[in-house]
Amino acid sequence: MSEIRLQVQNLCKSFGITKAVQNVSFNINKGEVHALIGENGSGKSTLTNMLTGIYTIGSGKFILDGKEVHPKNQVEANLEGISIIVQELGTLSGLTVAENIFLGHEDQFVKHGIKNREAINRKANELLQQYGFKHIKAEHQIDEYNFEDRKLVEIVKATYFHPKIVVIDETTTALSQEGREELYKHMDRIRKEGNTVIFISHDLPEILDKSDTITIMRDGVYIDTVKSADVTEDDLKRLMVGREVTGDYYRPDYGEKVSDEVVLSVRNVSVPNVLEDVSFDLHKGEILGFGGLSESGMHEIGKAIFGASYDRTGTVTLADGTEINDIPTAIKHSIAYTSKDRDNESIIMNQSIGDNITLPSLDDLAGKCKLLSDKKLSDFANKFAAQMSVKMQNIDQFVSDLSGGNKQKVVLARWIGKDSDILVLDSPTRGIDIKVKQDIYQLMDTMRKHNKSIIMISEELMELIGMCDRIIIMKDGKLNGELPRSRDLDENLLISKMV
Ligand code: ADP
Ligand code: MG
Repeated sequence: MSEIRLQVQNLCKSFGITKAVQNVSFNINKGEVHALIGENGSGKSTLTNMLTGIYTIGSGKFILDGKEVHPKNQVEANLEGISIIVQELGTLSGLTVAENIFLGHEDQFVKHGIKNREAINRKANELLQQYGFKHIKAEHQIDEYNFEDRKLVEIVKATYFHPKIVVIDETTTALSQEGREELYKHMDRIRKEGNTVIFISHDLPEILDKSDTITIMRDGVYIDTVKSADVTEDDLKRLMVGREVTGDYYRPDYGEKVSDEVVLSVRNVSVPNVLEDVSFDLHKGEILGFGGLSESGMHEIGKAIFGASYDRTGTVTLADGTEINDIPTAIKHSIAYTSKDRDNESIIMNQSIGDNITLPSLDDLAGKCKLLSDKKLSDFANKFAAQMSVKMQNIDQFVSDLSGGNKQKVVLARWIGKDSDILVLDSPTRGIDIKVKQDIYQLMDTMRKHNKSIIMISEELMELIGMCDRIIIMKDGKLNGELPRSRDLDENLLISKMV
């Protein structure tokens, strides 16, 4: 019989009228990776944020090793033996790597009232060595490192003190395969030490592979706790959605001919050290996929087409001869772009849903007389938020309050409102649960049938295979093969061209 580490008892939390967590009770054991799954907005982050002191507890209890805990902040949580790796960036700019690792716990390095910087750096470098992250230097500014390296620093920060519980909230979607492997190694170590990982991810194969136990939530309510060995992916989907996931997940057609009409030509596009001499055409009504390893240059292609890549050479030309060299021209000519880094590059977090949706359409809405009425703006925002079924209280709510899937819906609502003809979607379903994913796939299928053209850049090979008329594989900044839509494509075929 495994020993109980954490008892969650009658836990509740509301935001306004939203009951984010409703009377949730279950147990988590020592020495296990306990996955928490559920659709976007089902309350996973709210629950773990209460455990880790990020949110205050609404009502109910957390009992850790027999003793009630209610940390008021993350530092207090750490002292109770609880830590978290958050979904967003969890390191602070303007500090060094070492200062980030020991944030809030600098006391141990203070002697006679003086902080011993050398000792902090020494200890941090020791840890980075131990973890095998030798390329990261304790004394360097955290800002010198990319998102992935900063996540590695967070792994050290959250685990070096052998906490009893480490929460990992949707971290893996932001990581490359290598970064994931690092994380898995440490999850395994934590569990072997008899400690506990609460693992939140939307990747069901990953959940089944890496966790011992799975708790399912739906709309803030506890549904069930199951052993990973006893369930299939389909079982989990059913438990999450509360019904069979019916209808086609990806688009169902095969063998449809794509129009010969070219809507966008990319010629000899290069970006120093990132892209080399890339040329291709996008056709009317086509979904063109780009796949590759995360550093293959595929994400840069999206930026280059949207005019967001400043040191680009070569040409990006529309059918009417217009050259796209900057973002305003791209938007004016009906090109839409959603970034892989949704929170920083696609969304304006501290503005309302309404403002985010109307943003690129303001000129159109103002019309000839250059007048914007509030009613016109709110009607427009409401219409497209409803069309995308954004789960919200109203359009005045801040985007920062929404779950990942709903943020993505707001981004898409913006471009559907703008009636864009060419959509460049970089990782459109990243970190999004199956129900919203299915909605997005259906939307893409409808758009293509309305002669919209889509470039889909993705690290998820199955969705490229399922959705695209054609898939271009990138490697080391160059095109490395092209595969037409076919029932016979499989992931291994794509991978063989990626590496
Ligand atoms: P999950 O992590 O499962 O995607 P969340 O716990 O983030 O879900 O969200 C649960 C619900 O609570 C959602 O409806 C979300 O919009 C709402 N919510 C979460 N955080 C806040 C907040 N800070 N303010 C207002 N509403 C919030
Ligand atoms: Mg969440």
